[in-house]
Amino acid sequence: MLHKWHLLHIMKVKADFYNTARKFSETYSEFTHMGPFAKILIGSISVAYFAVKWTAPSFDPGSLKGARVLVTGASTGIGEQMAYNYAQFGARIVITARRENILQQVAEKCLSLGAQEALYIAADMASESDPDKVVDFALDKLGGLDYLVLNHIGSTPFSMWSGEVDHVRWLMKVNFFSYIQMAWRALPSLEQSKGSLVIVSSVAGKMPSPFTAPYTSTKSALNGFFGSLSHELAMKESNVSVSICTLGLIDTESAMKKVRGITKMPAYPAAEAALNIIITGATRQQELYYPWFTQIITLCKDWFPSATNYVIQNSLNYNP
Ligand code: NDP
Repeated sequence: MLHKWHLLHIMKVKADFYNTARKFSETYSEFTHMGPFAKILIGSISVAYFAVKWTAPSFDPGSLKGARVLVTGASTGIGEQMAYNYAQFGARIVITARRENILQQVAEKCLSLGAQEALYIAADMASESDPDKVVDFALDKLGGLDYLVLNHIGSTPFSMWSGEVDHVRWLMKVNFFSYIQMAWRALPSLEQSKGSLVIVSSVAGKMPSPFTAPYTSTKSALNGFFGSLSHELAMKESNVSVSICTLGLIDTESAMKKVRGITKMPAYPAAEAALNIIITGATRQQELYYPWFTQIITLCKDWFPSATNYVIQNSLNYNP
């Protein structure tokens, strides 16, 4: 049977081929007019890029059949799409968010898509006890965990910072403290199962941009904490892999509502972002940049900070 993932993959390969062929002929004619230094620089970057892509581990969809997965923030957006993707791969899933009625609908759809099991538990990640309660529920119902996918975020305005310290404190609880609490609670089971910890982060956590100070701080904290933890796990020769996923703008309803009319940045599909996150976790890769150019943008920020800041500030509609 031709799985949806295979169809998506074939379509993507075809589109990539035609786009690459067209871009190659345009780029080749520009390349032939460049000076020797620019040719060497671009040639080296291209060789390094293709070497990294070529050596990336390949994804086996069958590896997710029966996998025990907990996805947070799964009532909407990227989390919901991840639940559907895991379901199509035949995983056993627990999903969580605050709205129970929506979780129930998502769980029913997961079962219709092929999930071996789809359970839900309503929880508020701002609470001190709910993060542990959710992990314990998943461990109990699934008999352990192979994947812990931390994805939820609290709602925060897309606007200039105007001193709301209590809001940042609350957001840190939802977007950061609950992540580290859940990770710690799930680690012994992930250790036993040679499992994976998947952290959904943002380009904002690597490259601060205006109107997102509270959100950016939570994502920077995640990058720092889980970057450090992954070193420690490797030094302890742990079985657990840690994947940190850096996303650019994704077309979820909540994100689009905030940025519409303020930025012209292109938004990328939530379903594709979800699939990329799942593949990154399943292949135990340390990092994902989706879409791919977010990695180049973060490098530009380090190499050319003033120019990058100028571009960021001028890409937003703002009249003081
Ligand atoms: P959404 O706003 O669509 O979904 C957020 C999810 O978190 C919902 O399921 C929501 O459900 C849940 N949630 C909200 N507050 C709480 C809470 N207090 N306790 C428990 N659950 C809560 O987010 P996206 O899908 O857009 O983003 C998903 C991830 O991707 C996030 O980590 C985000 O930072 C990252 N990302 C997204 C980008 C984008 O452009 N969309 C860009 C870069 C990164 P409920 O309301 O039912 O609780």
